[in-house]
Amino acid sequence: MPIVTLTNVSKTYPPTQKGGAEVTAVDDVSLEIERGDVFGIIGYSGAGKSTLVRLINALEPASAGTIEVDGTDITTLSEKQLRAVRSGIGMIFQQFNLFSAKTVRANIAYPLKLAGWSKADIDARVDELLAFVGLSDKARAYPEQLSGGQKQRVGIARALATRPAILLADEATSALDPQTTHEVLDLLKRVNVEQNVTIVIITHEMDVIQTIATKVAVMENGRVIEQGDVFEVFSAPQNPASQRFVATVVKGIPSPAESAALRERHDGRLVTFSFRDGDSSQAQVFVDLADAGLDFELVYGGINDIRGRAFGHLTLAIRGSDAAIDAALVKIGASVEVTEIEREGAR
Ligand code: ADP
Repeated sequence: MPIVTLTNVSKTYPPTQKGGAEVTAVDDVSLEIERGDVFGIIGYSGAGKSTLVRLINALEPASAGTIEVDGTDITTLSEKQLRAVRSGIGMIFQQFNLFSAKTVRANIAYPLKLAGWSKADIDARVDELLAFVGLSDKARAYPEQLSGGQKQRVGIARALATRPAILLADEATSALDPQTTHEVLDLLKRVNVEQNVTIVIITHEMDVIQTIATKVAVMENGRVIEQGDVFEVFSAPQNPASQRFVATVVKGIPSPAESAALRERHDGRLVTFSFRDGDSSQAQVFVDLADAGLDFELVYGGINDIRGRAFGHLTLAIRGSDAAIDAALVKIGASVEVTEIEREGAR
Protein backbone atom coordinates (compact mmCIF):
# COMPACT_ATOMS: atom_id res chain seq x y z
CA MET A 1 0.00 0.00 0.00
CA PRO A 2 1.39 3.46 -0.86
CA ILE A 3 2.37 5.63 2.11
CA VAL A 4 0.98 8.77 0.41
CA THR A 5 -1.83 8.78 -2.15
CA LEU A 6 -3.14 11.96 -3.73
CA THR A 7 -6.32 11.63 -5.76
CA ASN A 8 -7.48 14.55 -7.92
CA VAL A 9 -6.09 17.06 -5.46
CA SER A 10 -6.47 20.78 -6.14
CA LYS A 11 -5.62 23.85 -4.13
CA THR A 12 -6.89 27.30 -5.02
CA TYR A 13 -6.07 30.52 -3.23
CA PRO A 14 -8.36 33.54 -3.20
CA PRO A 15 -7.26 36.49 -5.36
CA THR A 16 -4.35 38.36 -3.79
CA GLN A 17 -5.75 41.65 -5.11
CA LYS A 18 -9.31 42.89 -5.11
CA GLY A 19 -10.93 41.93 -8.40
CA GLY A 20 -8.01 39.65 -9.30
CA ALA A 21 -8.30 36.04 -10.33
CA GLU A 22 -8.00 33.17 -7.86
CA VAL A 23 -4.76 31.20 -8.06
CA THR A 24 -4.84 27.48 -8.75
CA ALA A 25 -1.55 26.43 -7.14
CA VAL A 26 -2.21 22.69 -7.43
CA ASP A 27 -4.46 21.49 -10.22
CA ASP A 28 -6.01 18.01 -10.18
CA VAL A 29 -2.91 16.12 -9.07
CA SER A 30 -2.96 12.36 -8.57
CA LEU A 31 0.12 10.48 -7.43
CA GLU A 32 1.22 7.60 -5.25
CA ILE A 33 4.34 7.50 -3.13
CA GLU A 34 5.40 4.01 -2.12
CA ARG A 35 6.95 3.22 1.24
CA GLY A 36 10.73 3.40 0.87
CA ASP A 37 10.67 5.68 -2.17
CA VAL A 38 12.86 8.71 -2.56
CA PHE A 39 10.23 10.62 -4.48
CA GLY A 40 11.38 13.75 -6.28
CA ILE A 41 9.06 16.59 -7.23
CA ILE A 42 10.62 18.87 -9.77
CA GLY A 43 9.50 22.01 -11.54
CA TYR A 44 10.29 25.66 -12.03
CA SER A 45 9.54 28.19 -9.33
CA GLY A 46 5.79 28.74 -9.03
CA ALA A 47 4.91 25.27 -10.37
CA GLY A 48 3.08 24.35 -7.15
CA LYS A 49 5.67 22.14 -5.45
CA SER A 50 5.68 23.83 -2.04
CA THR A 51 1.91 23.97 -1.99
CA LEU A 52 1.80 20.24 -2.69
CA VAL A 53 4.09 19.63 0.28
CA ARG A 54 1.99 21.80 2.58
CA LEU A 55 -1.02 19.70 1.57
CA ILE A 56 0.81 16.42 2.28
CA ASN A 57 1.83 17.47 5.77
CA ALA A 58 -1.60 18.95 6.40
CA LEU A 59 -0.40 22.48 7.00
CA GLU A 60 -3.13 23.61 4.63
CA PRO A 61 -6.43 22.03 3.60
CA ALA A 62 -6.93 20.89 0.01
CA SER A 63 -9.69 22.61 -1.98
CA ALA A 64 -10.64 19.34 -3.69
CA GLY A 65 -9.59 15.71 -3.81
CA THR A 66 -8.37 13.26 -1.18
CA ILE A 67 -4.97 12.84 0.44
CA GLU A 68 -4.21 9.58 2.21
CA VAL A 69 -1.20 9.40 4.48
CA ASP A 70 -0.40 5.97 5.87
CA GLY A 71 -3.91 4.77 5.09
CA THR A 72 -5.74 7.73 6.66
CA ASP A 73 -7.64 10.26 4.57
CA ILE A 74 -6.30 13.45 6.13
CA THR A 75 -8.78 15.69 4.33
CA THR A 76 -11.49 14.67 6.81
CA LEU A 77 -9.56 14.95 10.08
CA SER A 78 -10.00 17.40 12.95
CA GLU A 79 -7.17 19.75 13.89
CA LYS A 80 -6.29 17.53 16.87
CA GLN A 81 -6.12 14.42 14.69
CA LEU A 82 -4.00 16.33 12.16
CA ARG A 83 -1.40 17.04 14.83
CA ALA A 84 -0.83 13.29 15.16
CA VAL A 85 -0.46 12.97 11.37
CA ARG A 86 2.04 15.84 11.31
CA SER A 87 4.16 14.24 14.01
CA GLY A 88 4.67 11.30 11.67
CA ILE A 89 6.16 13.60 9.03
CA GLY A 90 9.53 15.31 9.37
CA MET A 91 10.42 18.37 7.36
CA ILE A 92 13.62 20.13 6.33
CA PHE A 93 13.94 23.50 4.62
CA GLN A 94 16.18 25.52 2.35
CA GLN A 95 16.98 28.04 5.12
CA PHE A 96 17.32 25.27 7.74
CA ASN A 97 14.87 27.06 10.14
CA LEU A 98 16.99 26.36 13.24
CA PHE A 99 16.54 28.27 16.49
CA SER A 100 19.53 30.60 16.55
CA ALA A 101 19.41 31.06 20.34
CA LYS A 102 19.46 27.31 21.01
CA THR A 103 22.43 24.94 20.85
CA VAL A 104 22.56 22.09 18.36
CA ARG A 105 21.53 19.71 21.12
CA ALA A 106 18.57 21.89 22.13
CA ASN A 107 17.47 22.29 18.51
CA ILE A 108 17.36 18.53 18.01
CA ALA A 109 15.72 17.98 21.42
CA TYR A 110 12.96 20.51 20.72
CA PRO A 111 10.39 18.24 19.01
CA LEU A 112 11.00 15.55 21.64
CA LYS A 113 10.25 18.04 24.42
CA LEU A 114 7.06 19.05 22.63
CA ALA A 115 6.13 15.38 22.37
CA GLY A 116 6.61 15.00 26.13
CA TRP A 117 9.62 12.66 26.17
CA SER A 118 11.53 12.22 29.46
CA LYS A 119 14.90 13.97 29.86
CA ALA A 120 16.79 10.67 29.85
CA ASP A 121 15.07 9.47 26.67
CA ILE A 122 15.67 12.83 25.00
CA ASP A 123 19.38 12.79 25.88
CA ALA A 124 19.80 9.25 24.57
CA ARG A 125 17.90 9.98 21.35
CA VAL A 126 19.77 13.22 20.67
CA ASP A 127 23.14 11.47 21.19
CA GLU A 128 22.06 8.80 18.72
CA LEU A 129 20.99 11.42 16.16
CA LEU A 130 24.16 13.49 16.58
CA ALA A 131 26.22 10.39 15.89
CA PHE A 132 24.07 9.49 12.89
CA VAL A 133 24.55 12.89 11.25
CA GLY A 134 28.22 13.10 12.27
CA LEU A 135 27.93 16.10 14.60
CA SER A 136 28.62 14.61 18.05
CA ASP A 137 31.40 17.16 18.56
CA LYS A 138 29.06 20.09 17.79
CA ALA A 139 26.37 19.38 20.40
CA ARG A 140 27.06 22.62 22.30
CA ALA A 141 27.63 24.83 19.27
CA TYR A 142 25.10 27.43 18.15
CA PRO A 143 23.81 27.45 14.56
CA GLU A 144 25.81 30.57 13.64
CA GLN A 145 28.99 28.61 14.42
CA LEU A 146 28.16 25.96 11.82
CA SER A 147 28.62 25.73 8.06
CA GLY A 148 25.53 25.48 5.82
CA GLY A 149 25.99 21.74 5.43
CA GLN A 150 26.32 21.27 9.18
CA LYS A 151 23.18 23.35 9.75
CA GLN A 152 21.25 21.16 7.36
CA ARG A 153 22.54 18.06 9.15
CA VAL A 154 21.12 19.50 12.39
CA GLY A 155 17.87 20.14 10.50
CA ILE A 156 17.81 16.50 9.39
CA ALA A 157 18.54 15.23 12.92
CA ARG A 158 15.73 17.41 14.31
CA ALA A 159 13.30 16.27 11.60
CA LEU A 160 14.06 12.63 12.39
CA ALA A 161 13.93 12.99 16.18
CA THR A 162 10.43 11.59 16.69
CA ARG A 163 11.08 8.74 14.21
CA PRO A 164 8.73 9.91 11.45
CA ALA A 165 7.96 7.52 8.59
CA ILE A 166 8.15 10.33 6.02
CA LEU A 167 10.67 13.13 5.54
CA LEU A 168 9.70 16.10 3.36
CA ALA A 169 12.65 18.06 1.99
CA ASP A 170 11.67 21.42 0.46
CA GLU A 171 14.62 22.78 -1.57
CA ALA A 172 16.80 21.41 1.24
CA THR A 173 20.05 21.69 -0.70
CA SER A 174 19.30 24.80 -2.77
CA ALA A 175 21.28 27.10 -0.44
CA LEU A 176 24.35 24.82 -0.45
CA ASP A 177 27.37 24.62 -2.75
CA PRO A 178 27.66 21.54 -4.99
CA GLN A 179 30.13 19.67 -2.75
CA THR A 180 28.00 20.23 0.38
CA THR A 181 24.86 19.38 -1.58
CA HIS A 182 26.32 15.95 -2.31
CA GLU A 183 27.26 15.39 1.35
CA VAL A 184 23.71 16.21 2.41
CA LEU A 185 22.27 14.00 -0.35
CA ASP A 186 24.49 11.12 0.83
CA LEU A 187 23.10 11.62 4.32
CA LEU A 188 19.53 11.62 2.99
CA LYS A 189 20.26 8.36 1.18
CA ARG A 190 21.36 6.87 4.52
CA VAL A 191 18.18 8.21 6.15
CA ASN A 192 16.19 6.39 3.47
CA VAL A 193 18.08 3.11 3.58
CA GLU A 194 19.23 2.81 7.20
CA GLN A 195 16.25 4.45 8.93
CA ASN A 196 13.60 3.20 6.46
CA VAL A 197 12.24 6.71 5.98
CA THR A 198 10.28 7.53 2.83
CA ILE A 199 11.61 10.80 1.44
CA VAL A 200 9.76 13.37 -0.66
CA ILE A 201 12.25 15.81 -2.09
CA ILE A 202 11.17 19.00 -3.75
CA THR A 203 13.66 20.84 -5.86
CA HIS A 204 14.24 22.84 -8.98
CA GLU A 205 17.66 21.15 -9.26
CA MET A 206 17.45 18.22 -11.65
CA ASP A 207 20.85 16.88 -10.59
CA VAL A 208 19.51 16.41 -7.06
CA ILE A 209 16.78 14.16 -8.46
CA GLN A 210 19.27 12.35 -10.67
CA THR A 211 21.52 11.65 -7.67
CA ILE A 212 19.05 10.54 -5.04
CA ALA A 213 15.50 9.97 -6.27
CA THR A 214 14.00 6.66 -7.33
CA LYS A 215 10.78 8.19 -8.69
CA VAL A 216 10.04 11.63 -9.99
CA ALA A 217 7.03 13.80 -10.76
CA VAL A 218 7.48 16.86 -12.98
CA MET A 219 5.17 19.77 -12.18
CA GLU A 220 4.17 22.71 -14.33
CA ASN A 221 1.37 25.24 -13.67
CA GLY A 222 0.07 23.20 -10.74
CA ARG A 223 -0.18 19.98 -12.72
CA VAL A 224 1.94 16.85 -12.72
CA ILE A 225 2.88 16.63 -16.38
CA GLU A 226 4.99 13.49 -16.16
CA GLN A 227 5.86 10.97 -13.47
CA GLY A 228 7.61 7.66 -13.16
CA ASP A 229 10.88 5.90 -12.51
CA VAL A 230 13.77 8.40 -12.61
CA PHE A 231 15.71 6.42 -15.19
CA GLU A 232 12.68 6.26 -17.50
CA VAL A 233 11.84 9.95 -17.17
CA PHE A 234 15.46 11.07 -17.59
CA SER A 235 16.37 8.76 -20.44
CA ALA A 236 13.14 9.19 -22.41
CA PRO A 237 11.03 12.13 -21.21
CA GLN A 238 7.69 12.24 -23.02
CA ASN A 239 6.37 15.70 -22.21
CA PRO A 240 8.00 18.67 -24.01
CA ALA A 241 8.40 20.58 -20.73
CA SER A 242 10.12 17.64 -19.03
CA GLN A 243 12.28 17.23 -22.13
CA ARG A 244 13.45 20.82 -21.60
CA PHE A 245 14.22 20.18 -17.91
CA VAL A 246 16.02 16.96 -18.60
CA ALA A 247 18.09 18.47 -21.40
CA THR A 248 19.55 20.98 -18.94
CA VAL A 249 21.19 18.27 -16.82
CA VAL A 250 21.58 15.22 -18.99
CA LYS A 251 24.97 14.82 -20.62
CA GLY A 252 25.14 14.62 -24.38
CA ILE A 253 22.19 16.77 -25.45
CA PRO A 254 23.49 19.95 -27.13
CA SER A 255 21.80 23.16 -25.96
CA PRO A 256 20.31 25.41 -28.66
CA ALA A 257 23.49 27.55 -28.54
CA GLU A 258 25.71 24.48 -28.82
CA SER A 259 23.61 23.18 -31.71
CA ALA A 260 24.09 26.49 -33.49
CA ALA A 261 27.86 26.28 -32.92
CA LEU A 262 27.94 22.70 -34.21
CA ARG A 263 26.05 23.81 -37.29
CA GLU A 264 28.67 26.52 -37.90
CA ARG A 265 31.56 24.11 -37.60
CA HIS A 266 30.29 21.03 -39.41
CA ASP A 267 28.89 20.25 -42.83
CA GLY A 268 26.13 17.73 -43.27
CA ARG A 269 23.02 16.89 -41.29
CA LEU A 270 23.29 16.84 -37.50
CA VAL A 271 21.52 13.88 -35.98
CA THR A 272 21.36 12.84 -32.30
CA PHE A 273 21.07 9.12 -31.51
CA SER A 274 19.82 8.28 -28.01
CA PHE A 275 20.73 4.97 -26.40
CA ARG A 276 19.45 3.27 -23.28
CA ASP A 277 20.86 0.18 -21.63
CA GLY A 278 19.26 -2.85 -23.14
CA ASP A 279 18.76 -1.02 -26.45
CA SER A 280 20.71 -2.09 -29.50
CA SER A 281 24.40 -1.33 -29.56
CA GLN A 282 25.84 2.00 -30.59
CA ALA A 283 28.20 0.15 -32.91
CA GLN A 284 25.26 -0.94 -35.08
CA VAL A 285 24.50 2.72 -35.85
CA PHE A 286 27.98 3.21 -37.26
CA VAL A 287 27.73 -0.04 -39.22
CA ASP A 288 24.38 0.98 -40.71
CA LEU A 289 25.67 4.42 -41.71
CA ALA A 290 28.80 2.94 -43.25
CA ASP A 291 26.74 0.29 -45.10
CA ALA A 292 24.64 3.10 -46.57
CA GLY A 293 27.84 4.61 -47.96
CA LEU A 294 27.52 7.70 -45.78
CA ASP A 295 30.34 9.80 -44.44
CA PHE A 296 29.95 10.74 -40.77
CA GLU A 297 31.74 12.30 -37.87
CA LEU A 298 31.04 12.23 -34.12
CA VAL A 299 30.59 15.86 -33.03
CA TYR A 300 28.90 15.77 -29.62
CA GLY A 301 27.93 13.24 -26.97
CA GLY A 302 27.75 12.02 -23.41
CA ILE A 303 26.84 9.03 -21.28
CA ASN A 304 24.78 9.30 -18.08
CA ASP A 305 24.55 6.92 -15.17
CA ILE A 306 21.51 6.73 -12.93
CA ARG A 307 22.19 4.26 -10.12
CA GLY A 308 24.13 1.91 -12.35
CA ARG A 309 21.97 2.18 -15.47
CA ALA A 310 23.41 3.99 -18.46
CA PHE A 311 21.90 6.07 -21.20
CA GLY A 312 23.48 8.47 -23.59
CA HIS A 313 23.24 10.67 -26.63
CA LEU A 314 25.62 10.89 -29.59
CA THR A 315 25.35 13.59 -32.23
CA LEU A 316 26.87 12.89 -35.63
CA ALA A 317 27.35 15.11 -38.64
CA ILE A 318 26.30 12.93 -41.58
CA ARG A 319 27.16 13.71 -45.18
CA GLY A 320 25.62 12.13 -48.26
CA SER A 321 22.53 12.43 -50.41
CA ASP A 322 19.37 13.32 -48.50
CA ALA A 323 17.67 10.20 -49.83
CA ALA A 324 20.47 7.92 -48.59
CA ILE A 325 20.53 9.64 -45.19
CA ASP A 326 16.73 9.43 -44.86
CA ALA A 327 16.77 5.72 -45.68
CA ALA A 328 19.54 5.02 -43.17
CA LEU A 329 17.74 7.01 -40.43
CA VAL A 330 14.54 5.08 -40.99
CA LYS A 331 16.42 1.80 -40.63
CA ILE A 332 18.31 2.91 -37.51
CA GLY A 333 15.19 4.55 -36.08
CA ALA A 334 13.57 1.13 -35.73
CA SER A 335 15.80 0.36 -32.73
CA VAL A 336 17.33 3.66 -31.59
CA GLU A 337 15.73 7.05 -30.94
CA VAL A 338 16.78 9.43 -33.70
CA THR A 339 16.42 13.23 -33.46
CA GLU A 340 17.58 15.50 -36.22
CA ILE A 341 18.77 18.94 -35.16
CA GLU A 342 16.82 21.41 -37.25
CA ARG A 343 18.55 22.90 -40.21
CA GLU A 344 16.93 26.30 -39.67
CA GLY A 345 16.16 26.48 -43.39
CA ALA A 346 19.65 27.87 -44.01
CA ARG A 347 20.84 25.18 -46.38
P1 ADP B 1 6.78 26.29 -6.12
O1 ADP B 1 7.00 25.70 -4.78
O2 ADP B 1 6.81 25.28 -7.23
O3 ADP B 1 7.71 27.44 -6.40
P2 ADP B 1 4.35 27.33 -4.97
O4 ADP B 1 3.60 26.15 -4.49
O5 ADP B 1 5.11 28.12 -3.96
O6 ADP B 1 5.30 26.90 -6.17
O7 ADP B 1 3.34 28.33 -5.69
C1 ADP B 1 2.43 27.91 -6.72
C2 ADP B 1 1.52 29.08 -7.07
O8 ADP B 1 0.63 29.36 -6.02
C3 ADP B 1 2.25 30.38 -7.36
O9 ADP B 1 1.59 31.03 -8.40
C4 ADP B 1 2.12 31.13 -6.05
O10 ADP B 1 2.17 32.51 -6.29
C5 ADP B 1 0.77 30.68 -5.58
N1 ADP B 1 0.65 30.70 -4.11
C6 ADP B 1 1.38 29.94 -3.24
N2 ADP B 1 0.99 30.17 -1.98
C7 ADP B 1 0.00 31.10 -2.02
C8 ADP B 1 -0.82 31.77 -1.04
N3 ADP B 1 -0.70 31.49 0.26
N4 ADP B 1 -1.73 32.67 -1.49
C9 ADP B 1 -1.88 32.94 -2.80
N5 ADP B 1 -1.15 32.34 -3.77
C10 ADP B 1 -0.22 31.44 -3.40
